[in-house]
Amino acid sequence: MINKDRLARLFIDLVRIDSVSREEGRLCRHLQGLLGPFGCRQEVDSAGSATGGDCGNLIVKIPGVDSLPPILFSAHMDTVEPGRSVEPRLSNGIFSSTGDTILGADDKSAIAILLEVLYVLKENEIPHPPLELLFTVCEEVGLLGAKNLDYTKLESKMGYALDTRNPDAIVTRAPAANKLNFIVLGREAHAGSSPEKGINAISVASKAVARLPVGRLDEMTTCNLGLIHGGTATNVVPNRVLIEGEVRSHDPEQLEEVTRRLADTFTETVDAYRGLEEDDLPRAEIDIQHDFDRLFIPDDHLLVKSARSAARNLGRDLQVTRSGGGSDANIFTAHGIQVAVLGTGMENVHSVRETVSLADMVKASELVLEIIRHWGKGGL
Ligand SMILES: [Zn+2]
Repeated sequence: MINKDRLARLFIDLVRIDSVSREEGRLCRHLQGLLGPFGCRQEVDSAGSATGGDCGNLIVKIPGVDSLPPILFSAHMDTVEPGRSVEPRLSNGIFSSTGDTILGADDKSAIAILLEVLYVLKENEIPHPPLELLFTVCEEVGLLGAKNLDYTKLESKMGYALDTRNPDAIVTRAPAANKLNFIVLGREAHAGSSPEKGINAISVASKAVARLPVGRLDEMTTCNLGLIHGGTATNVVPNRVLIEGEVRSHDPEQLEEVTRRLADTFTETVDAYRGLEEDDLPRAEIDIQHDFDRLFIPDDHLLVKSARSAARNLGRDLQVTRSGGGSDANIFTAHGIQVAVLGTGMENVHSVRETVSLADMVKASELVLEIIRHWGKGGL
């Protein structure tokens, strides 16, 4: 039933429309045009003003069997850079870019799949529950579209986001995350004529950084220090360093414990270098922000059972897996909408080597269609 050629054309048209984060407007209007003939309600929310972008989240409601509860499907419209003037190539059934941009299969393969499924539902008059389609903005820059979505506009209590790799897997777990900014304040001085008047913030920060664990701390938890900024010139003793890091954990208690431990270790180490001068330097300042909650859907949840039985109907097996990264699904869950993540076949995302196989996109489309049929038959 899935029309492979139409799916390929949909995808090619989508990736040719630039939509790096905060510039999703053109892509959104293209989608609205395609969705027009489906007799659906469409609305763009006001998330664009919160994100500083040219567009908000696109919410689409497709009427279905009224007695059934609505179900949500989501994908994000934005891409990372280099994502401008993408020229897709299809060779041996694999889409790629020309090698100097990303492809944008993350997440336009998902958008193409959802559109293709809508065409098939309509052509074949397949009974389905009311569908809510959500196309978010700014996923790639901190899940900002999902964070600023007006949740009163959605009625679904559960759904699926299409935004991972393996079309034979369903992701039901993803870690929660905290962002940490570690700042060391030292004292500025001329490095040649009066170094003894200075306190070198870079040097002190290096001692504190050396005591922080990074990498995979255990099966549940990871930690990274990813950015460092500081200093003004080689002849100036630097008075400020900022180190940006993150902690992620599938276990919310461990997330808080590790975050606290990192902050305490950092502060204690910096404090140990403090002299007796009045200005209380060097000093650590630590800013902790909760980035997103974890995603946790039990294996016996309806979302998982429906997807697995849909896969079985197609003669396939669907693996239940967990992811190390957060996605819009983490945010939806925190707002009371349980959302599991399905794969589209995208590979090597966020790189100029990004690809997606058309056969995998067909597989993903078949699964989404079968899930919707299953729900349409009252498989709830
Ligand atoms: Zn993505």
